[in-house]
Amino acid sequence: MANQDLTDQDLKLINLAKATAKKYITERWEGDRISSVAACVRMKSGQVYCGPNIKHPHSSPSSLDAENTALAVAYANGEREAEVIIAYHYADEDHQGVVSPCGQCREFLRLFGDPQVIVEGEKGLEKRSLLELLPNSENF
Ligand SMILES: [Zn+2]
Repeated sequence: MANQDLTDQDLKLINLAKATAKKYITERWEGDRISSVAACVRMKSGQVYCGPNIKHPHSSPSSLDAENTALAVAYANGEREAEVIIAYHYADEDHQGVVSPCGQCREFLRLFGDPQVIVEGEKGLEKRSLLELLPNSENF
């Protein structure tokens, strides 16, 4: 993992997202597995918030992505400016890793400023600015 631009704090955030995803993958809601991704966001305040995706087993439009869940918890705690975010998919030890936020999550994340997003780059994990991942959103 080439991660020269990732700080120790970033690596802790990645590990926390992985641990959170692992925690929720074992949970069932009325018999259905509803979560396999977790996101953790570090706000400019330094506070960290995590959340799992909540996948409706019969209606995907009624689902929430992990980034949205983590950001909603941050918002509910009075936070408005995100510094860095990471989403992690965990199915089992052979099927896991950092995932890039979908378009809808990128737009939602834009409400919280121009944070760095940890993504899988060509040489391993790296941080990219949200504006780089969501061009033409300077005036959002
Ligand atoms: Zn998403």
